Amino acid sequence: MRGTIMDYPLTLPTILEHAGRLHGAQEIVSRQPDRSIHRCTFSNFYRRTRLLAEALLKAGLKPGDRVGTLCWNNATHLEAYFGVPCAGGVLHTLNLRLHADELAYIAQHAGDRFLIVDEDLLPILDGFKDKVDFERIFVVRSGGDIPSGMEDYDDLLATATGDFDYPTIDENDACGMCYTSGTTGKPKGVAYSHRGMVLHTFAVIAPDVFGLSMRDCILPIVPMFHANAWGMPVAAVMAGSKIVFTGPHADADSVLELLDNEGVTLTAGVPTIWLPVLDALKRQPQDWSLRPEMKIIIGGSAAPESMIRDFNDMGHQVIHAWGMTEMTPVGTTGVPKPAFDNMTEDEQFTTLAKQGIPLPFVDIRVMGDDGPAPWDGETMGELQVRGPWIASSYYKPEGTIDSWTDDGWFRTGDVVTVDAEGYVKITDRTKDLIKSGGEWISSVDVENALMGHPEIREAAVIAIPHDRWIERPLACVVTEVGSALTAEAVQAFLGETFAKWWIPDAVEFMEEIPRTSTGKFQKTALRTRFADYKLP
Ligand code: ADP
Repeated sequence: MRGTIMDYPLTLPTILEHAGRLHGAQEIVSRQPDRSIHRCTFSNFYRRTRLLAEALLKAGLKPGDRVGTLCWNNATHLEAYFGVPCAGGVLHTLNLRLHADELAYIAQHAGDRFLIVDEDLLPILDGFKDKVDFERIFVVRSGGDIPSGMEDYDDLLATATGDFDYPTIDENDACGMCYTSGTTGKPKGVAYSHRGMVLHTFAVIAPDVFGLSMRDCILPIVPMFHANAWGMPVAAVMAGSKIVFTGPHADADSVLELLDNEGVTLTAGVPTIWLPVLDALKRQPQDWSLRPEMKIIIGGSAAPESMIRDFNDMGHQVIHAWGMTEMTPVGTTGVPKPAFDNMTEDEQFTTLAKQGIPLPFVDIRVMGDDGPAPWDGETMGELQVRGPWIASSYYKPEGTIDSWTDDGWFRTGDVVTVDAEGYVKITDRTKDLIKSGGEWISSVDVENALMGHPEIREAAVIAIPHDRWIERPLACVVTEVGSALTAEAVQAFLGETFAKWWIPDAVEFMEEIPRTSTGKFQKTALRTRFADYKLP
């Protein structure tokens, strides 16, 4: 017997219409390049987004055509987030921190037909536009002139009348695209579907995931050009939450000012964003009055337990989240299950520092050498996932791709344990694991312990080839200003926590750890730098 329920498509226009009708008075706040604050309402956003969709269709956008964006987090980028897919197009967010050659490859590979660019990012566009066949380029102005050959974004909107009907969209059609940063091989494109995006949005809004409501004020620091800003912009529009955008200014003081002035209740970013914010809060707590109920989502790379504890001491709950570009992107969130009531405080924090429990519909398994591993919190294996917002292939992949198993699971490349309560702990990326004398050392565990040292700001641990043990760990460490920490002291500190053979053979002190375009520690750069390193 079939269900008697309507087969109603899960597409983004329905979210936009809901937001426009029901949350029109809600506010969207964007910091501009000149640091001034721009304010508009969901009503403005709704009207302009529909104008954009209509104007794109008038400009000849065909179903499935890609529209690139090279934009900061701001209200016009949000218009593109909805306007492009609601016109039947595919929003392709370009990561402005990538090298010009990479941007050229990505935009060309995706076949971007139109581009929307923030005026202050034109110098970046200059670096690669000649290598891409953009048909038209629309500039979101912030006071300057439009370069020849380009057009004013507002002039594009002015071609629309407001009399617009959404095209018919199949829920499995693509609504957006994002490329993984490609630490190995060429960047690979993921095409998100309307259906996947809508289901992901329902999932992240839920109380035990990010928990978004129309009473919330969200500030995603995670860039909108990376993995849909963890789904926060679309989720906030669906929930009717107030939205605050940093624009180009994501330094600690600018972030704190927005958190304070706008009454933010939920914010999100990678650990490297939070380090200077924490510093500022510790140095001058009296300068800022943040909402006590403000929750902080930290993900993208491991949130050190010390960071979770520090924020907790200030009254803020940290939600440690894990995800991937291939997963729209959220897969797990570290929210406290009722089992926390029976844990000691130390156990609670150890668990909160894990990456969390899978979202509903994120099906997980841990593949060890001998098949699926038990959820015992100890057995390591590769995390494999499947679900309705997880990629089943890349867009026009080049070369051999071994990211999917024969029985249809996506291989995350993350090595994990899962405990009896279902909390996933990332112990490493497969390519970052250190194998010493046939035994695995988790570089992540050692890094987390290091970053718990009061005089250590940043730490990354990499494998160095070794004659006898095959590989041994090297710790790369950035100390706090004025610290006189020695390698021996660092090793002795680790000796309090780890078995002797886990302790790095050497410690290199440096000014800063190189970062990827998304703010993660770039271990590949360290491996290149220390390729010929001689361990003592
Ligand atoms: P890339 O880093 O290659 O650009 P993604 O942004 O999609 O790709 O990053 C996904 C990867 O980031 C995951 O496979 C995992 O290794 C890492 N990651 C994401 N969140 C966390 C987290 N909370 N803790 C540890 N690692 C994480």
